[in-house]
Order: sequence, then structure tokens, then C-alpha cells
Amino acid sequence: MVKSNCRFCQTPLSKTFVNLGMSPVSNAFLKSEQLDKAEKFYPLHTYVCENCFLVQLEEFETPEQIFSNDYAYFSSYSETWLNHCQSYTELMINKFGFNENSQVIELASNDGYLLQYFQQRGVPVLGVEPAANVAKVAEEKGIPTLVKFFGVETARFLENQGKQADLLIGNNVLAHVPDVNDFVGGMKIALKENGILTMEFPHLLQLMECNQFDTIYHEHFSYFSFLTVEKIFASHGLILFDVEEIATHGGSLRIYGKHDTNSDYEVTNRLMNLKNKEIKAQLDRIDTYLGFGEQVKETKRKLLQFLIEIKSQGKTIVGYGAPAKGNTLLNYCGIRTDFLDYTVDRSPHKQGLFLPGTHIPVYHPDKIKETRPDYVMILPWNIKDEIIEQMAHIREWGGQFLIPIPQVEVV
Ligand SMILES: [Zn+2]
Repeated sequence: MVKSNCRFCQTPLSKTFVNLGMSPVSNAFLKSEQLDKAEKFYPLHTYVCENCFLVQLEEFETPEQIFSNDYAYFSSYSETWLNHCQSYTELMINKFGFNENSQVIELASNDGYLLQYFQQRGVPVLGVEPAANVAKVAEEKGIPTLVKFFGVETARFLENQGKQADLLIGNNVLAHVPDVNDFVGGMKIALKENGILTMEFPHLLQLMECNQFDTIYHEHFSYFSFLTVEKIFASHGLILFDVEEIATHGGSLRIYGKHDTNSDYEVTNRLMNLKNKEIKAQLDRIDTYLGFGEQVKETKRKLLQFLIEIKSQGKTIVGYGAPAKGNTLLNYCGIRTDFLDYTVDRSPHKQGLFLPGTHIPVYHPDKIKETRPDYVMILPWNIKDEIIEQMAHIREWGGQFLIPIPQVEVV
């Protein structure tokens, strides 16, 4: 059954990567007065393109509805993430010599979590951010921010104002873009002749090898291998000359790109090594992608088996965190307040609300001290070390941490 075409190469999509059923949009947190109202659920069905191997969700919803004014995600609440941003800034300034005469532009700049570090070093910055409430927080911090979706049209608008980037950044945005050709085409326009672009996105190889199916959610339209992303940039006249494997979001890539007319910067060995690693993992063969769905079903069955076991011993379980990936996991597995009494989150924008679909309440982390649960299930497992350290006091009453991915584990 063919429902839509590949976002990149337009080949009709017919091969399922994994089908996670019906799920609400993961940032559609609910207020208590909404709990007895109907909720919208959308298919969470990923396909793999048999021509370019782009793993992607079928089209189902406009981005305006996803990135609504209530968009609850603010980048600045994880210390691990802020440290990552600070060291990135140092690396880029040391490596490429950006200074007060350079222009840094970040696409999907969120609340200015990253640009603040460039600004502190005296490098002029500009953010582009579609969510108005998040952009407002950035502006309040003194980070100039244009409230727009990025693409060819916005890039031309910036170009007409004399704004092009010496460093063009896009962190965790490529996956969120509905029209990947319009976005990368816009990057081609927004980059100065000798400019550098870097982008970070979760690595599809990690998703598959580490069973990270919960990183699939409606706001993530695409899931990239290096082999596929290289083709996409090349088709827009941009060459990737370097790539780093980094730890964020359970294993991401940071790609470095330039215009194909720019003769600076040789292709690095580590780029060639990564390509070889993906070829060795057979990411250039359709069969490799087709067994993933079965692996995910097995993970669900094992997690539920474990939770049922500890609940039948009369133990209490609560969650930690309210990330998008948590909502995928909980909705797909059908884990509601029958298993998790509540979850907690450090972001005050989520406290007092309820998780979409599962209606699990979100409290301040202090709630855990009050109720002394037996198990704390860490939903943002990518920052589990940070959370285990912050929440070490649960050991006082014999509490333990539960890590659901890649396989359920007690710590
Ligand atoms: Zn394709």
C-alpha cells in the first residue's frame, strides 16, 4: 500500500521500518480541565525509502499545529546539554577563528541556549525560531531572533537584509523539517561563500543498534544515516567534509559542510571511516531496515512483563522526565497510571500538566522525596547519568532506577 512519497527523492513509500500505532503529538500536554475531552491521535508509522534509505514518517499533520504557541520545549533545562553547547562554541571559535566580524546564524535557535555562548565571546548572532513563545524568551536574554520557519523563502529574506552566515548551525532541527529539500536549499542561500555549516542530528545507526525506537515521534519527520544525509546535501550543492560522532540524544552525528565551490577543507579520514562503518552495517541495503519492527515489539513485551512483575509485588513506580521520547514509549506500550503513579520534570512549563495520551501527571522533582517510590523510571535515558546523580537520595529509602531502553535494566 503506497500512501506518500519520499520527502527527499519522491520515490513512493511502501516499506515499513516500524509501526508504533496511534499516538498523540508528544508535546500536546494537557491541563486538568482537558482530561475528560477527546484527544487527537495520529499514526506513528515510519517507512524506509527503498531508493535513498531515508527513514521517515508518512505525512499526517501540518507543522504549524505541531509547533503551536504552547510548544513546551525549552532547551535550557538540561545541564548536560548546556555543557555540550559551551564546548561546541569553544571548538568552533578555536577551529575556524570566528570573531566580532563573523555572523553566526542558528536555525531553530529555541530559547537562545547555544547562541548565548557565542554572544558572550563577542561573536554577532542571529536566531531563527518558529515558536513565538520560545523566541520571546531568547529576545529577553538579548539574543536577536527572527520568528519564522526556515527554508528558501526565509533564506532569501535574510539575504535581502544582507544577512548570510559565516557559521550556519542547525542542531536537532533536520529531523523536524517537513520539507527537507526546502530547508537544505535555504541553507545553500544562507551560507556565505566561504562559510561553514554544522548540523547535529540523531544517528539512524544508533537508533537501530541501540533500539531507540522511542526517539520516533511526530515532530521527527526523518531519521538519517550519514550516507543519506550526504546525498541530500550534495543534491543542493553542499559538500560534507567532516563528521563527528557525539554522545547527545543517545548518539548523534555532527556534520560539517561547505559550498561545493569552496576548495578549503579536505574530506577527513573520520568521515571516510564513518561511511565505511555504515556500509559494513549494510545501511545501503533495504533488508537491513525491515527487521527493526520485530525487535521493537519484543522490547515492548519484555518491558511490560517486567513492570507487571514488580507491580504484582506491590512496588511503586514513578517516572522521571517528560520528554517527547517518553510519550512515544508510554503510549506505544500502554503504560498509564496503572504502572507509573506520576512523573516529574525540572521544567516549570510542564509541571502541573498531564502527559498526552497516558494522562500521567507531571510534578516538581521534590514530589519524589515526599512519596519515596521503589522505582524511578528514567524516561530521558540519554541523560540518565545526570539524573542518577541528581536523584541519588532515592537510595536512602532503597529506591532504584529503571532504565527502559535499550532493554529494561535496574540500576
Ligand atoms: Zn528517498
